[in-house]
Amino acid sequence: MPMNFSFTAADEAFREEVRTFLRDELTPDLIEAGRRSSAMYVDRETMQKWQAKLHARGWGAIDWPVQYGGTGWSPAQLFIFREECARAGTPPVLNSGAVLLAPALFAYGSDEQKAYYLPRILSGEHYWCQGYSEPGSGSDLASLKTRAERDGDEYVINGTKIWTTHAQFADHIFCLVRTKADGKPQQGISFVLMRMDLPGIRVEPIITLAGDHEVNQVFFDNVRVPVSNRVGVENQGWTVAKHLLEYERGTGGAAAGLKVALDGLRQSVQKDGPGIEPLIKNPAFAMKLHQLEVNFNALEFTEITTLARLVAGNHPGPGASSAFKIQSVDVEQRINTLRMEAAQYYGLPDHTRISLNECTEPRIGPAPVESAMASYLTSRAASIYGGSNQVQHNIIAKVELGL
Ligand SMILES: Cc1cc2nc3c(=O)[nH]c(=O)nc-3n(C[C@H](O)[C@H](O)[C@H](O)COP(=O)(O)OP(=O)(O)OC[C@H]3O[C@@H](n4cnc5c(N)ncnc54)[C@H](O)[C@@H]3O)c2cc1C
Repeated sequence: MPMNFSFTAADEAFREEVRTFLRDELTPDLIEAGRRSSAMYVDRETMQKWQAKLHARGWGAIDWPVQYGGTGWSPAQLFIFREECARAGTPPVLNSGAVLLAPALFAYGSDEQKAYYLPRILSGEHYWCQGYSEPGSGSDLASLKTRAERDGDEYVINGTKIWTTHAQFADHIFCLVRTKADGKPQQGISFVLMRMDLPGIRVEPIITLAGDHEVNQVFFDNVRVPVSNRVGVENQGWTVAKHLLEYERGTGGAAAGLKVALDGLRQSVQKDGPGIEPLIKNPAFAMKLHQLEVNFNALEFTEITTLARLVAGNHPGPGASSAFKIQSVDVEQRINTLRMEAAQYYGLPDHTRISLNECTEPRIGPAPVESAMASYLTSRAASIYGGSNQVQHNIIAKVELGL
C-alpha cells in the first residue's frame, strides 16, 4: 500500500483468501501464456479460461456495482486483489466488455440490454472489441464517418474502423456511427452494438512494430443492425462515448502490474553478467531507476485515491482519468526503456520477430528482460491508444484548468 496507507487485519485475511484462490486456480499454462506474450494481451482461449475461473468464484468483474455481479469490495481489497494477481502472474486480459462497455451500459443501457449483455460479459461468453477510431478520425474522433442509415427497424452501416484490438477474436463490437450528417459533428453520432458475424463485416489484420497481430481494420459493407441495438438516444452517442472513455483512461488497476515489472527490473540489474558488474552499480542507471521509483509511488497513491472515488459511487472524471493515463503510461514506458538498457548491457538477444511462445532458443540472462525489445515496442503504443497523451493534456487544460 502506498504512502501512509496501511492494511487492516481483515485486509490481510482477504489477501490470504486471494492467494489461496490463485494457488488453486492459476495453472502453470495460464501463467506461461501471459509471461511469454510480447503483446498487450493473450489469446482469446487463455483469457476465456481465466475469466471462467474468476466468474465461478464470483470475481468476474470485481469493480462492477454489486447489483450487476460486482464484489462490493473496498478500495483496499480491489488494490490487494490486483496486486496479488500481478505477483502471481495472471494472464493480461482484454476487458473491452467488462471495463469499457459495461459502465456505458450501467449508465445508458436499456433494461433489456443490461439483462442480456451484462451476464454474458461477466461469464466471458461474449468477447467484445471497440469500434471508435477510423482512418482520419482518432484524436478528432467526432469527425468519424462510418454511416448508419435508418431503414425501418434497422440501421444499414457502411464504413470502416481501424486499430480495433482483438477484432479477430471478438464476437461483438460496440461502434460509434454517424446517424446525422449536418450540424455539429458531436451531435450526429450514435452508439451501436453488433455481432461480428453479421453479413458485410470483414476484418483485416495490422501487424504491430513488435511483430504481433493485435490490431485490425474492420470494414462494414451494408451491415444491417436492429435499431434496438443502439445504446442511449439517437444522435447523442457522443455522451455515451465520453463516459466510456473515462473508464478506458483511468480507473486504476495499472499500478499492480507496473510494480511487478519494476521489481523484476530491480532484481535483474542486481545480477552479474559474463565478466561484468551488476548494472545497478552504474550511478547513471541507478539514478534513473530511483527517479522512476519515486514516480511509481506517486502513481500508486493516485490509484488508491481513484479507487476510493469509484467505490463511493463516483465516476473517474475526465480530468482525473486523463491525468492518470499520462502518469501510468509514463511509468510503463520508462520501465521498458530501462529494461532495454539492461538487455543491452547484459547482451540479451532480441526476440522481436520470433513470438516468445514459438522461440526454442535457450534462455540467456535475467528472465524479466527476456522480452525487453518486444515489450518496449509494444509500450510505445500506450501513449497513443485510449487517446494520445497530447490529447489528454488538452482535456486537462480544458476541464481542470478552464483554459
Ligand atoms: C495498439 C493500439 C490499439 C488500439 N486499439 C483501439 C481499439 O481497440 N479501438 C479503437 O477504436 N481505437 C483503438 N486505437 C486507436 C487509438 O485510439 C488512436 O490511435 C488514437 O486515438 C490516436 O488517433 P490517431 O492514430 O488517428 O492519431 P492522430 O489523431 O492522427 O494523431 C497523430 C498525432 O497528432 C497529435 N495530435 C492530434 N490532435 C492533436 C491536438 N488537438 N493537440 C495536440 N496534438 C494532437 C497526437 O497526439 C498524435 O501524436 C488503438 C491504437 C493503438 C496504437
